[in-house]
Amino acid sequence: MIPFKEAYDKVLSYSMNLGVEKVNLMNSSGRILAEDIKADRDFPPFNRVTKDGIAISYAALANGVTKFRMEGIASAGMPQQCLKDENACLEVMTGAVLPLKTDTVIMYEHLTIEDEWVVINKAVTQGQNIHYQGSDTSQGTVILKKGHVIGPAEIGVMASVGADKINVQALPRVCTISTGDELVNVNETPEPHQIRKSNSITLQVALSKLGIVASALHLKDDKTTIRKGLENALQENDVLLLSGGVSMGKFDFIPEVMDVLGVEKVFHRVAQRPGKPFWFGFHEDHNTAIFSFPGNPVSTFANYHIYFLPWLKTSWNVPIQNTFVRLVEELQINLPLTRFIQVRTRWKDGALHATPVSENGSGDLTSLVKSDGFICLEPRKAIYKVGELVIFVPTR
Ligand code: AMP
Ligand code: MG
Repeated sequence: MIPFKEAYDKVLSYSMNLGVEKVNLMNSSGRILAEDIKADRDFPPFNRVTKDGIAISYAALANGVTKFRMEGIASAGMPQQCLKDENACLEVMTGAVLPLKTDTVIMYEHLTIEDEWVVINKAVTQGQNIHYQGSDTSQGTVILKKGHVIGPAEIGVMASVGADKINVQALPRVCTISTGDELVNVNETPEPHQIRKSNSITLQVALSKLGIVASALHLKDDKTTIRKGLENALQENDVLLLSGGVSMGKFDFIPEVMDVLGVEKVFHRVAQRPGKPFWFGFHEDHNTAIFSFPGNPVSTFANYHIYFLPWLKTSWNVPIQNTFVRLVEELQINLPLTRFIQVRTRWKDGALHATPVSENGSGDLTSLVKSDGFICLEPRKAIYKVGELVIFVPTR
């Protein structure tokens, strides 16, 4: 058994380069950008009118002109217009290119218009209501850096620079593997001694949130079945996420079969609760990382978030940032095990506060719907006090 921190660092040290793939911009939400995106032109690309109204030459106003004749219109989408008579004005609309020979825009709300004559009712500052070319970003500037998580805002920015196909970090090929003779499919009615599978389904859905379409495999507690199943799975995947079969039971064959298949055991058992019997290994030839979680649903769920997600981020070169929450109750950690306690969080006075949820051990699947993450508490003599900041592992 190794300490939690050591297990965590070991898992991260087995992160792998998953490569890069090109995807359509519209399919890139949630992915990690694998290239710098540059502005293909200035932002905005021309002096942009920001108010509906008129454009004038400020010099005319300064020289005492009080009534401006409207000589035409410039709307968004029209090529740049030009003011012919410098003492006149052009009607302009938001989004239009500022006409040549004009330098100031006055909004309709500050004008009195009679036929084609305009009187300005408010003090004017030269250059007002113009969004100047290149004032946001100039052509060639990096506007999104490699490693950025892509969401709707990023997609909008990339759309505006014409990046319709982009390089993103490739997704790992993942197989979720459930083990156990007691397990039946969701659509089956279990016999009294059986239960329905849930771990592999939870894992598949959690992975789908990252865009990963994982395959699924079920293995009975039989060495030959496990060996054959794993042999294949190792060849076809970058990651195996197993649940069950790694504890002390007579039918917990996973560690033994992994050894037969030439998988390097990095560690087995971690000083943590839940999730203690966690087995982690790596197959050098196939370049496959194997996360073999204990079968209790809370253990599988916790370890997926504690280990697999940081492993994936590291593989994608995305920095890991800890989130902290404040304790609502005092807690004491007596046993020499790193504890992961399910909590419900809520915002109060500008900070996220965590209240432990009632749970009946790591087999209590139903507790998972009451919590939105785990707090991580290292064992220590001193009590964890109300209001203390502790690490939070979100699961939603
Ligand atoms: P194991 O780690 O194989 O000893 O399993 C520990 C407990 O978790 C047992 O009660 C199993 O029935 C249960 N379990 C194992 N795998 C699953 C799964 N895929 N879905 C739900 N429960 C499971
Ligand atoms: Mg089992």
